[in-house]
Amino acid sequence: MANNSCTDRVVGAILASWRYDISGITPDMRKDYEQHFAECSRCRARQKFHRSLDGTLAVLTSLAVLFFLFALAALNHLKPLEHVAFKVFGLDVADMYHMLFSAGIAGLCFSLIVLALVLTATPAPKYLGGIAAERAKLIEERLPDSIKTLKPR
Ligand SMILES: [Zn+2]
Repeated sequence: MANNSCTDRVVGAILASWRYDISGITPDMRKDYEQHFAECSRCRARQKFHRSLDGTLAVLTSLAVLFFLFALAALNHLKPLEHVAFKVFGLDVADMYHMLFSAGIAGLCFSLIVLALVLTATPAPKYLGGIAAERAKLIEERLPDSIKTLKPR
């Protein structure tokens, strides 16, 4: 299905250069591209692929931030590391903690920068927000009527 050729190569090339993201252009200009997505299964598939790639990048970088936060928090509770530092590497305990803490901070800063880049350079926030809104709508539809009537409109 993704091997089908594009129905309009010019529009397809423009969309490819934008990584199939039309969220940044004005609504009246967007109409033509939306129509192309409706007609062209190849571009539709590519758009879906790129948006899931953006979403995956955002999730992975968020996980990296959490991982480094966790590592920094766990650093104070790792007594066995002192043993390893003394016997294996011949390091001073303070040196070792300083080294690990620096590595943790560096990793945290790096993953925060990458996360910021992913969130600003890709439409990932909109994509993930759209998924969340869709899920919320589905859950809302499944709610019993007695609860639905309680919701303020
Ligand atoms: Zn196309």
